[in-house]
Amino acid sequence: MVHRQDACLKFLREAADATVLLRGVRADRLKARLSVIRPDGTQDQFDVLIEPRGASSVSVREAVVGCRLPSWCPDRHINADGSFCLSWAEAEPLTIDSLENAQRWWAALFGFLKRQRIAERARRWPMGRSRAHGPDAAQAEAEAEAIAGSLGYRLLSDLRRGKLSAKFGIGTGVVKTPGWSFYLDGRRILNIRYDGIITGLSNRTCLCDLWKIATPSACRDHQGQVIALGMALVRQQEAEALFWSEAKRRLVCCRSMDSCPLNPAVQEKTCGGLA
Ligand SMILES: [Zn+2]
Ligand SMILES: [Zn+2]
Ligand SMILES: [Zn+2]
Repeated sequence: MVHRQDACLKFLREAADATVLLRGVRADRLKARLSVIRPDGTQDQFDVLIEPRGASSVSVREAVVGCRLPSWCPDRHINADGSFCLSWAEAEPLTIDSLENAQRWWAALFGFLKRQRIAERARRWPMGRSRAHGPDAAQAEAEAEAIAGSLGYRLLSDLRRGKLSAKFGIGTGVVKTPGWSFYLDGRRILNIRYDGIITGLSNRTCLCDLWKIATPSACRDHQGQVIALGMALVRQQEAEALFWSEAKRRLVCCRSMDSCPLNPAVQEKTCGGLA
């Protein structure tokens, strides 16, 4: 009887091309040496260990963790156990249930290793703004993107470029109720108070691409969508803050990235940007 886990490794073996040297072939894991071409044409080799995780996905890490890459670095998408964060696993799992998907997986691994070489030199991740860190934050970010995407391309690209943000504050006015304020491009667009009262939306046009005149409450179901987007942003920020504070407690920075909040040099520059 063929286990489904083995099927996933079987697809990977079949999909491996000439740039992948398979070694140590066993039913429960796969070792491979990958040749990554540098921009100057020379080759770079990485030894990886691939193990099944669940029915149709795998985890991959360096065969010897910490050999060529940092053993852990959230900013370089290397998890605390040394495994690579190839996709946005929580939201877009790379399932390996066909030969075609297995080819896609190898391509993702090569892309990841190429970006590691670039990150090493540039001291930043080469794909623009990187994804939220930690599974809970990534989930919330995926939700926020789905909502923004349903409202329109403009809002989605603003979100992806980091132009939307949420800030916790104590309300002004007679009743000081704490809550969240949301900003687009530095301008406040919405307040959600802890008592459930929402302000700021009634005197502005909807954020969607459809009707630029209507307020969100008069524009389809967009008032609810904008509020849901705000709450997803809040969950993302809270989850990410928790992720970094735990990471800071548990792990030592590899110091290879200028954008990493755990890098002591970065913290000095930003006056300890981490709360
Ligand atoms: Zn690091
Ligand atoms: Zn990642
Ligand atoms: Zn609208």
